[in-house]
Amino acid sequence: MVVKKTGALLLVTALSVSLLAACANNDKENNIDSSASETKSGAVESAPAADAGGKVSAEPVTATIFYFSPQFTITGDLPVLKKAAELTNVTLNNVAPIGGEEKQAYNLMLASGELPDLISYGTSELNTVAQEGALQPLDELIDQYAPNIKKFLEERPNVKKAMASTDGKMYVIPYVTDGDAKEAWFIRQDWLDKLSLPQPKTVDEYYNTLVAFRDQDPNGNGKKDEVPFFSRVSNNGVYALLPLWDSFYDFYIGDDNKVHYGPYEENYKAGMSNIAKWYKEGLIDKEIFTRGNNARDVMFNGNLGGSIHDWFASSSNFNVSAQGSVPGFSLLPFAPPASASGKVQEVTKRDTFNGRGWSISSSAKNPETLMKYIDFWWSEEGRRMFNFGIEGETYTMVDGKPIFTEEVLKQPSVVDYLASQYGSQLLWGAHQDYEYEVQWSNKVAVEGIKMYTDNGYINKNFQVPPLNFSMEAQNRLKEILPPIQTYVSENGQKWVMGGEDVDANFDKFNKRLKDLGIEEVLNLYQQAYEQYQQ
Ligand code: CA
Repeated sequence: MVVKKTGALLLVTALSVSLLAACANNDKENNIDSSASETKSGAVESAPAADAGGKVSAEPVTATIFYFSPQFTITGDLPVLKKAAELTNVTLNNVAPIGGEEKQAYNLMLASGELPDLISYGTSELNTVAQEGALQPLDELIDQYAPNIKKFLEERPNVKKAMASTDGKMYVIPYVTDGDAKEAWFIRQDWLDKLSLPQPKTVDEYYNTLVAFRDQDPNGNGKKDEVPFFSRVSNNGVYALLPLWDSFYDFYIGDDNKVHYGPYEENYKAGMSNIAKWYKEGLIDKEIFTRGNNARDVMFNGNLGGSIHDWFASSSNFNVSAQGSVPGFSLLPFAPPASASGKVQEVTKRDTFNGRGWSISSSAKNPETLMKYIDFWWSEEGRRMFNFGIEGETYTMVDGKPIFTEEVLKQPSVVDYLASQYGSQLLWGAHQDYEYEVQWSNKVAVEGIKMYTDNGYINKNFQVPPLNFSMEAQNRLKEILPPIQTYVSENGQKWVMGGEDVDANFDKFNKRLKDLGIEEVLNLYQQAYEQYQQ
């Protein structure tokens, strides 16, 4: 998160001159039809109309929008956007170029001197240009003209906090995801069955299971070729094992509600020491640091891999895709093994935001109408259209719930199909409905997610929330954090691969982190976290 912010700051410096010029020039263009200006006077009374799916403007208006799609042609003519125009009286005119590179198109738009009414882009980049005056603050507009968003933010105060820009105001309506479940522990159930083993419930049982996978030829080819644990995440994938010893690789919020840095904690010694042991004993893929993104294809289709910690949906799909090469293949999510201290917890969680959102530009002449239009997508009807498309075409209502048609469900990518053919599931500020995903997810994933959710395995407080660092803090972090991260990464690889004894060198490692400034970093994080909590 720090790195992202740093990148955005560099962009600001490069753009600020041209951008300020752009804002100054912008009054020449009124991108909203002036006939809509009457909404200004009647705005307060008409605001609740959006809630009922009513029109947000008495007269038809066209709003320009920058919405870049690398693959699809997104225009106001797509069925969902057309239907939204009927319901709201606001038609979108997408001014983003088709094809090319998104960042380039975005920078060009900013520098052009003509900002569209609405800009859809990465939230952190939008918050950055907001500080240059490119966007309108939304706090009062939401309060007066966006009853659905207002209600949502009252129910989700943490989302509201995380939306605040560095000056404390809101400039971006973000895409908010739905559901918590992200990754899980997976194990080859067909291998367990073959060796008559139960699913492991503790770190010690997990160890014994991986030993059995290594020694007892569960793939039945007479060779000792099984790879008990592996990962498709190069460099960092092995650290998914650290929680088994109550240890972690990154910043996290502890039970004391304070920010911690995993490698700077005492438990990291036991975690790394055990991972090094497992690696030496052949329980962890020898190539875990370099195996790469197709590791699951290689290891599962080749009937070689035993266990992973990875995403629910894509991992569960191997139960279908690996059947051809491994008849009877079964890969099931299992409960997180109890850690050395007896904790059963999953520390990954789906991010609340997907990083995208939309804003009202400073040159938009009718922010009230635009705010009401954005709010339409947060109404019950708008949210359903956003997630499910058009009734009778992409879904039908069954017992009061939208159910996708067979035509939709048979698509190789439901999301891409809905976005490109209908204008649903666009990457702008709306609220995802997890139900839409459930309908096309593998049954194994859906049941696994239910198990993790119903049993409360997911530690929702563990991940550090999106923090707003002061400019001074950002500059300091940019300077001292990368060397720390590089050192931890290089040292970690050395320890896991047996290049140095963990226990004998832990104190030296700890002192080096201190010398590199980890305590100052932790203070900056803690301050930002305390501010976030206010
Ligand atoms: Ca074998």
